[in-house]
Amino acid sequence: MTAGAEATIAAPPSRPEGPAAAPVTDEWLRAIPKVDLHCHLIGTVRGSTFAELARREGLELPDDPERIWSDINSLPPDPKLYEHTAIPVPQGRAPGEPERSYSLFQTSMWVRDVLRTPDDLSRIVYEAFEDAHEMSGTSHLELFFDDVPDHLARLGFAGSMEAYAEGIRQAERDFGMTGRMIKGIDRSLSGEHALEQVRQVVDNPHEYLAGIGLDNLETAGPPERFADAYRLAGEAGLGRTAHSSEHVPSAQNTITCLDLLGCDRIDHGYYVLEDQRVLDDVRERGTVFTVGSTTSRRSWRPWRRASIRAMLEAGLAVTPCSDDPGMFPTTLQNEYEIMRDLNGATRDEIVGMARRAVDAAWLPAEDKAELAAKVEAAVGDAEPTGAVRSA
Ligand SMILES: [Zn+2]
Repeated sequence: MTAGAEATIAAPPSRPEGPAAAPVTDEWLRAIPKVDLHCHLIGTVRGSTFAELARREGLELPDDPERIWSDINSLPPDPKLYEHTAIPVPQGRAPGEPERSYSLFQTSMWVRDVLRTPDDLSRIVYEAFEDAHEMSGTSHLELFFDDVPDHLARLGFAGSMEAYAEGIRQAERDFGMTGRMIKGIDRSLSGEHALEQVRQVVDNPHEYLAGIGLDNLETAGPPERFADAYRLAGEAGLGRTAHSSEHVPSAQNTITCLDLLGCDRIDHGYYVLEDQRVLDDVRERGTVFTVGSTTSRRSWRPWRRASIRAMLEAGLAVTPCSDDPGMFPTTLQNEYEIMRDLNGATRDEIVGMARRAVDAAWLPAEDKAELAAKVEAAVGDAEPTGAVRSA
């Protein structure tokens, strides 16, 4: 996939940057050992894998699995929320937007329905790593995972975590990658539920389980609701992140996530642009934002990309992520290309993104140092190393 295929806004004027005159080629981008800090396991599932499992389980669906995969979209938001935002939110359907869409959340429920065995869990983890390695040259991947479905309750939290870990171990052996899991905290549920989930994480420590991350629709759960759960995670030394300032046009939500929830980094964060004081604050703190140019309601992508460009221009520490690369087809490589082509990132800025993703990874210091050295070796070369197989 090329970034140009998604071009719905004009390319920004280039911003010259001193010594960063060397061209940012696809090959140079491909050779960077990338780190993806924001990717949902359920959103990585290949359409072909879902089709196979759905047929195996005899799942009744309103359409062919392949057709559903090509027509996934986000739910239409309430336009009233966005009437006065700094960057206007487009209304109506985008060119190429499917007439009848399947929501990301509905599709995710169908995937959960057909995951029936520990091997299914290990398989989708392994395939997420395989795709990231082959299509993007990703070296380190952190995957959000959801609550165990009722039909897998027999595995318990520890058993399902071990199944995910087995997928990572296989990927480490086959691709030389590293990986971690992030327990997703579903913000549409209660604070008590979140606390119970974090207790399970704390009571079942695992070398591949690095932290927690608040996800699902921001309109459904304000960050304040999860203060107790996040406090417990912090006391246990877990990494903490949260989707914030993504669906609710509130910059303050990000400050709440940083100060009340103790987040190490923020997923998305576009609406920090709504408040200059917050913008200045998060720039001074060096808060890392994992941003995705593609995984949005399709008609919203021009807004999303204009927001990322504005965050870059404001000097914020952004780094690209793939988010739901199986369901909103993209790759981390593609997200880097979009940074260059549509979001106006310079070579220096792209190098900064790659470096800060390593810094913000939930890995032991020695692993991060090794990864950082690989990044420096790649970005310091004028010529691409060619170490990564083309997608
Ligand atoms: Zn996400």
